[in-house]
Amino acid sequence: MSNSKQLDLWSDEADSPSTPDFVAHRTTDTADIHFVSAFSRVESVPLTLFADSNNRSSVGRSVQEIPEKAGRAKVTVKEKAHVLSRAQGFMGDYDFTLNPYSGCQFGCAYCYAAFFVNDPEKRQDWGGWVDVKTNAINELERSRSILGRKIYMSSVTDPYQPLEAKVGLTREILQVLSSPTKMPRLVVQTRSPLVERDLDLLSKLEHVRINMTVTTDSETIRKKFEPLCPAIEGRLEALRAAKMAGLKTCVCITPMLPLEDPEIFACRLAELKADIYVTQPFKPSNGPFAASTRSMALEIAEEYNWTLHDYEHAVSVMRAKLPNLYEGREGFMPE
Ligand code: SF4
Repeated sequence: MSNSKQLDLWSDEADSPSTPDFVAHRTTDTADIHFVSAFSRVESVPLTLFADSNNRSSVGRSVQEIPEKAGRAKVTVKEKAHVLSRAQGFMGDYDFTLNPYSGCQFGCAYCYAAFFVNDPEKRQDWGGWVDVKTNAINELERSRSILGRKIYMSSVTDPYQPLEAKVGLTREILQVLSSPTKMPRLVVQTRSPLVERDLDLLSKLEHVRINMTVTTDSETIRKKFEPLCPAIEGRLEALRAAKMAGLKTCVCITPMLPLEDPEIFACRLAELKADIYVTQPFKPSNGPFAASTRSMALEIAEEYNWTLHDYEHAVSVMRAKLPNLYEGREGFMPE
């Protein structure tokens, strides 16, 4: 149990589940994943876990405040899981990926982080469970290799999924990362306006960028592919707030879902004056063991007759309004 390892199994292609979504992060020792009952959870986890250690200003969450359910997702405490993993493949320009959680309540139809979950039931039930990595703060406080390093948060989960509003683990992590001895070069990848809550901490970092995923211009389409995710306008509003706070921003149209009007969408996004725009198409399956867009999403895309040709056409239209529109890995460069 003590020799558990973590791997980031990055796709070497432009395939981003939530964007972070194209990254794979797998616990190779399944013994490291343990499920505890509500009772044992309280007994087995140090109560000081989220406490205000080292006089650090803290949201001061205690483990008892981690709910057993969040929406329809079952929540499990994962005491020994690492939050930092060495970045590889698609994210190879970074030093580390940082995932406060395993699993993701947003459960997007196209997310292929699910491909890297060992348990077939959990893979099938993507969106129905979240593991909270309760050793995160200890791990980061002990780490000597964060200062100035390029970190991508997060690659296989959304650090601002709804559970975060209750647990505050991502905020705790930012409190550590914003201290002068830890400050990394950070990219935060999310699709949640909850990131606005932490603009105070993010503003303390010298090198930081907020990557916000905005996959389509249509609420109807969004609800088909990502019904549990925040509405489009909320994400745009969060980007405006980040910009107002002086932070760098990136709009990730990844993967690009069917669009109503690429030109109007591009104009709307251009008004945000983001530093970077990035897009990429669905990643078709390369076989049963390869990470790819989930078949559920490909079926929905087919309903809308959305093809690679449509994607390419949309990119060319949008590029006229968004000269800083990149495709794939190039758009995910570190800050
Ligand atoms: S938000 Fe969550 S479910 Fe959606 S693509 Fe990202 S990691 Fe996957």
